Amino acid sequence: MKTEREYRDDIVRIGRLAFDKGWVAANDGNITLRLDAERILSTPTGMCKGMMEPGDLIVLDRQGRKISGHRERTTEIDMHLTIYDLRPDIRAVVHAHPPVATGFATAGKPLNLALLPEVVISFGCIPIAEYGLPGTHELTAPMRPLIPKHNALLMANHGAVCYGEDVFQAYFRMETVEHSARIQLVAELLGGPKVLPRVEVDKLLDSRTRYGVKSRSAGEPDCPVVAEEYGDERFTVTRSELIGLVDEALRARGLA
Ligand SMILES: [Zn+2]
Repeated sequence: MKTEREYRDDIVRIGRLAFDKGWVAANDGNITLRLDAERILSTPTGMCKGMMEPGDLIVLDRQGRKISGHRERTTEIDMHLTIYDLRPDIRAVVHAHPPVATGFATAGKPLNLALLPEVVISFGCIPIAEYGLPGTHELTAPMRPLIPKHNALLMANHGAVCYGEDVFQAYFRMETVEHSARIQLVAELLGGPKVLPRVEVDKLLDSRTRYGVKSRSAGEPDCPVVAEEYGDERFTVTRSELIGLVDEALRARGLA
């Protein structure tokens, strides 16, 4: 267990990283973590997340009411509280507007193509929650059915939110989301991404427990991973089967 001061330092550090990466413009974004069962440490509203000091953070109760701190709470706090309510395993939430992932969210494109093994293993897919007015229950209502199944969400015409067992895991998940969005964008510019075959995706999803990934999003009906559904044969043939196929082909042509 860390001290509250150490948790404050962690949030300040993650705020700087998010700002330096260009995920938040001006006062955008917010970061929270659970201090204990009753208290949440949060970034304040109206402040650049790259320029915070530990004393700028505020402490809220589980209903989002301020317990201590001289700054004011964000109107987006409901998003964080909803995630904590629905996911007892989650201890930290990072919300930002990373430009490429947010571009996908704005274009209505979920990050659901099976392109990169580590993303398939970590996330399965990253769905889009429909648009809702920030600062109201309309923002969180479309996110509710997705939160139990996913650790990262795009938010239509808004941004992205990632959550984890600590603030670093939540931050690194956001980094992976933005990184994979950038890679997909480059692939789109180069003629279109090529998705992995289904059989390879299934192998990756099966290997999740080996990598210690708790299954959350694999092939959920709200956002199935898009894989190549045909042409699997070349990936499923074993070496001895391949030799057999070659022999057969040679015999058919009278060459063996
Ligand atoms: Zn936002």
